[in-house]
Amino acid sequence: MKNCIFCRIINKEIPSEIVYEDDDIIVFKDINPQAPIHLLIVPKQHIESINNIDKDSISILGKVFYVAKEVSSKFAVSEEGYRIVVNTGKNAGQEVLHLHFHFLAGRKFSWPPG
Ligand code: AMP
Ligand code: ZN
Repeated sequence: MKNCIFCRIINKEIPSEIVYEDDDIIVFKDINPQAPIHLLIVPKQHIESINNIDKDSISILGKVFYVAKEVSSKFAVSEEGYRIVVNTGKNAGQEVLHLHFHFLAGRKFSWPPG
């Protein structure tokens, strides 16, 4: 998608701090971190949000959580814990319309979220 900021990151048209990449998924540091570790796990396929997932994408979504586990090991936060967040739509504050999973770690998170 030409005007999608995450597609442009995936295509290396704009820089990002990539911490993991394979054929299906890229993980890079959030530019405005909300925790000491704040990564975005992003399927390379342009899917706007959870609302736009189709059956062909199901296996990639499983892989997202496998990559999350790998990333948690890489950043040594598996034991202390982390939070994965997917904002969907305006009430959740979704700003970038390319499905992404926030991976947050390095501090204690409150519940319920704000
Ligand atoms: P959301 O509100 O769930 O759509 O989250 C979008 C996230 O993308 C925010 O946390 C932004 O800080 C992050 N973001 C926006 N542009 C960039 C960028 N160029 N590189 C890294 N993260 C970005
Ligand atoms: Zn996109």
